[in-house]
Amino acid sequence: MPLIIITGLPASGKSTRAAQLHAYLAERIAALPPSSQPYRLHLISDTTQGISRTVYDLSALPAHVRSANASEKDARASIYGAVKRVLSPRDIVVLDGLNYIKGWRYQLFCEAKNASTPSAVLQVGCSVERARGVNEERLRKRGEAVGKEGEAEEEPYEPANWENLVFRYEEPNPMTRWDSPLFTLIWEDDEAQAREVFGRIWDVLAGEAKKVVRPNQ
Ligand code: ADP
Repeated sequence: MPLIIITGLPASGKSTRAAQLHAYLAERIAALPPSSQPYRLHLISDTTQGISRTVYDLSALPAHVRSANASEKDARASIYGAVKRVLSPRDIVVLDGLNYIKGWRYQLFCEAKNASTPSAVLQVGCSVERARGVNEERLRKRGEAVGKEGEAEEEPYEPANWENLVFRYEEPNPMTRWDSPLFTLIWEDDEAQAREVFGRIWDVLAGEAKKVVRPNQ
């Protein structure tokens, strides 16, 4: 099976949806008849690859290296390697991340094609104001947590980094091959709605996967 690319604004609820989708797919895989070859399921994200939010921060870089933005390129290379290592018609990859550059999504789409497996995009929709509020809340909590023991909170983006990423965000376009099929969930969507969308993702991708998996695979 396939690659599911999650995309959305920074702090818009992507990891929450990715975790829900991962749990839903695990349930569907477990419900398959034992005689059918089970899929392996993978969740890949900046967190799993140990990538910090600061790699996206252009303001933290000296002007002469901004155009190259090596650290973000390195981060993408790490993600790309992780996806490529596991992607196959038998491996479902949920890629949780900003995935905000259309050329990058195109590259991932081509990688799935190379691995003879389909891909899809799940856009996590959230208003700019709400996502900004989530990030500000994380910044506040980080401030309060300084010097205190406790559970590590999600890493916030520095405000200028967050604003810049929103500015640079390239919306998926379902008219292009690499952004389709495109599914959307918004912040307000409840569990029933999420499951309905996850079910459609499963149907489309499992159906597509059957066409490309040869019987002896
Ligand atoms: P991202 O991965 O885009 O940074 P997260 O999934 O980590 O965003 O979510 C940011 C915060 O918003 C978390 O505290 C999460 O619990 C909360 N959250 C995410 N999605 C929703 C939602 N649909 N409804 C309510 N709270 C949400």
